[in-house]
Amino acid sequence: MRRAVIVGGGISGLAAAYELARAHVPCALIERSPRLGGVIRTERIGGCLVEAGPDSFLAEKPWASELIRELGLAGEIIGSNDRERVTYVLKRGRLRPLPDGLMMMVPTRVWPVLTSRLLGFGTKWRMATEWFHRPRRAGQDRSVAEFVSEHYGREAVDYLAEPLLAGVYGGDASELGVAAVLPRFLELERRYGSLTRGLLVARRTGGLRRAGSLFETLRDGLGRLVEVLAAEVRRCGEILYAEAETVERMPTGYRVRASGQWLSAEHIVLACPAWEAARVVRALDPVLSDLLEAIPYRGSITVSLGYPRSLVHPMPRGFGFLVPKCERHRLLACTWVGAKFPHREPPYMLLMRCFLGGDDLLGADEHEITDVVRHELARILDVRAEPSFVRVARWPRSMPQYTVGHRERVEAVRARLAAWPGLLVAGNAYEGIGVPDCVRSGRESARRILAQLG
Ligand SMILES: Cc1cc2nc3c(=O)[nH]c(=O)nc-3n(C[C@H](O)[C@H](O)[C@H](O)COP(=O)(O)OP(=O)(O)OC[C@H]3O[C@@H](n4cnc5c(N)ncnc54)[C@H](O)[C@@H]3O)c2cc1C
Repeated sequence: MRRAVIVGGGISGLAAAYELARAHVPCALIERSPRLGGVIRTERIGGCLVEAGPDSFLAEKPWASELIRELGLAGEIIGSNDRERVTYVLKRGRLRPLPDGLMMMVPTRVWPVLTSRLLGFGTKWRMATEWFHRPRRAGQDRSVAEFVSEHYGREAVDYLAEPLLAGVYGGDASELGVAAVLPRFLELERRYGSLTRGLLVARRTGGLRRAGSLFETLRDGLGRLVEVLAAEVRRCGEILYAEAETVERMPTGYRVRASGQWLSAEHIVLACPAWEAARVVRALDPVLSDLLEAIPYRGSITVSLGYPRSLVHPMPRGFGFLVPKCERHRLLACTWVGAKFPHREPPYMLLMRCFLGGDDLLGADEHEITDVVRHELARILDVRAEPSFVRVARWPRSMPQYTVGHRERVEAVRARLAAWPGLLVAGNAYEGIGVPDCVRSGRESARRILAQLG
């Protein structure tokens, strides 16, 4: 019998398998697609480095860069070109820069907010008077929209919180829950009342680490991390390309049916999406399955367009722009890739990476999706040139939605799992959606197994 089977070869499953391999505990990792990495997919097209899924991670969360360093790839880490870091927000058809010194929607500097053309007088007044908010006791979870609106008003929801979060969750500020999505801000509210005051205190007392670039990634793309992790896993375990279908209890441990074959193991880590984990455990524990199924998901699409630079006018200085939902476009965000990470496009090319949320276009064919994006770029940026390549990547049911009550749902999943020793879940559905959170989640699940093995 194997020590462990990991279901899912995305970054979470690979991180779990790596942690076991590192401790010389052989495991089998099962991946149903013919490719590892899950939503991480790096390609080279027309001299450009194209990321179909995530392109980087927040440097502030240490778990991805720790792993990269452990793998001997420290020399390949590159940081975002923060000297050029301006992000624009579309407002009434014009791109307006986000004011300097904002942490999400919380202002920490007066002058940039006062002079911002993104925010009206009412919001600026709210931002000034928010300083006097009183501490608030922790209560029931509420939506991010309610939370932000209470502090800074509706415009801050529409033009700051909503577009910033849409880029991460592809979700809706009126549905996302503040306890899971902005736990640090909730804590500041509880302690200080005012988020601005709380952040400034935290900064003064060293509670906020900020040095170096905001985002990090690998020179040759995040696909490189997947490649090196997979090689490490293969040194001590095996990777099987099969679909986990169901899991059964055995006198000791479990067995998993994967594409018709049974594999027995003492421990199982379900590092696949929660809705897929729900299907795999349905026969074993229908209640657990329902709890997992209750975590909602949305799809997303990235469209990368490479233009000959000579055909496109220069873009404004900055990383790209966000499109608030209230502006009624289908595009959620667009990154000027070469400005954020130089060397990802040759000097004669301009690479744009566009992000579409929601599910309505997932069923459309590539031409239709490309037409939508080109139409939007023409309206917003006046870019009408013919791209020399377009790459569309569709990711159905890829973004878990941490809606109001998410933390309680995850606690209920964990409580139910306590009845199944050796059965674990990992991945972006539970305690963080970003690549660093997934690395942490995968490695923690493996550490729990190692603790039991003694
Ligand atoms: C378009 C997009 C852009 C993003 N951008 C960023 C970013 O810039 N920065 C950032 O930090 N995060 C970003 N994220 C979020 C982050 O990339 C993901 O949350 C993370 O990579 C998910 O990893 P995972 O391993 O948990 O899940 P996944 O990557 O979804 O992997 C799950 C794997 O399980 C496999 N699987 C499913 N069911 C079965 C089964 N029954 N049997 C076997 N295998 C199965 C799947 O095929 C898949 O390979 C982005 C996400 C998307 C979709």
